[in-house]
Amino acid sequence: MSYKKFETEAIRTQLERTEFLEHSSPLYLTSSFVFEDAEDMRASFSEEKQRNIYSRFTNPNTSEFVEKICKMEGAESGYAFATGMAAVFSTFAALLDSGDHIVSARSVFGSTHALFTKFLPKWQISTSYFNVNEPDTIESLITPKTKILFAETPTNPAVDIIDLDLLGSIAKKHNLILVIDNCFATPYLQQPIKHGAHLVIHSATKLIDGQGRVLGGVTVGQADLVREIYLFSRNTGPAMSPFNAWVLSKSLETLSVRVDKHCENALKVAEFLETHPKVSWVKYPFLKSHPQYEVAKKQMKLGGNIVAFEVKGGIEAGRQFLNSIKMCSLSANLGDTRTIVTHPASTTHSKLSEEDRLEVSITDGLVRVSVGLEHVDDVIADLKQALEN
Ligand SMILES: *Cc1c(COP(=O)(O)O)cnc(C)c1O
Repeated sequence: MSYKKFETEAIRTQLERTEFLEHSSPLYLTSSFVFEDAEDMRASFSEEKQRNIYSRFTNPNTSEFVEKICKMEGAESGYAFATGMAAVFSTFAALLDSGDHIVSARSVFGSTHALFTKFLPKWQISTSYFNVNEPDTIESLITPKTKILFAETPTNPAVDIIDLDLLGSIAKKHNLILVIDNCFATPYLQQPIKHGAHLVIHSATKLIDGQGRVLGGVTVGQADLVREIYLFSRNTGPAMSPFNAWVLSKSLETLSVRVDKHCENALKVAEFLETHPKVSWVKYPFLKSHPQYEVAKKQMKLGGNIVAFEVKGGIEAGRQFLNSIKMCSLSANLGDTRTIVTHPASTTHSKLSEEDRLEVSITDGLVRVSVGLEHVDDVIADLKQALEN
């Protein structure tokens, strides 16, 4: 059955009980499923019968996870992947042909950028980029070969916001498939399908797991598009493991309370940083000073858990800040219970020229904080002592 409220769907969408009447869904660690007879096998393979055949296609645990995400995003169907990048790659590979063209925001996750620049061109698939702060240039990039419009919002690591209603209307006008990577917001804060997206991708590794344990990805959306992605994936093998699906299904039960607290802490961290003399600016979607504050308020329930700020003193000051951190983690993940601090200019984006970094809003002193669930006073105390060191 269907419930009206997000939190209830996240908790009460579950597998049918077995004869043991278990309360929580069991874990189905099985690679395949048995057929009763030759006729059952024929009907299953011809898809006259909807049932599990092999865990690369479907498994009860991955189906439960996908069903929950579909209800939370308002999507028709979906498919779960081993990682967020498997979801991104399989979505593009399944839907695009040689010669097709993508229009994408310039600020996208690093590996997605590598997919667009290094790998998709092998199949003559090209990409044009728009600056997230110049959305009126998007339409000028569209060609007769453009098939997909792609964006992430909020962006990584600069926390810019892109207007989803605007993307939805452009996609509709030009008959493009709008694909949104909704990883930073989670379905709790933002549901792109309501704004006209055809497909929504998540790295479940981040806030959906939220506890830094497992990798996962998922694509949900319009049924005919998901069908293409499913057929591609069941034959090429990027499926999520049943174990990870079981962990992630449990994680979704607490998504709303965790994300509420993440956002409450992140807003307090952002407000603290705004008053600190060693910080030249702070960017957080729900701070009034954010350039797209009004858009953020319109499309997001809360501001998310990522705060970006600029330490005065450039690259050296950023590096020094990172070295002075005592409690927060220096780690490549985000959306964990543990607060994570990164300095892109000296680490993840150090190979880019200053000019290329600025194209994606990565200034020399930019620090990204993924605010966790520790007591916010301890997080603020750590950032404060590191700024003053
Ligand atoms: C982490 C991330 C991904 C990739 O997810 P993995 O699970 O690490 O493969 C894709 N998009 C965004 C926005 C991310 O933050």
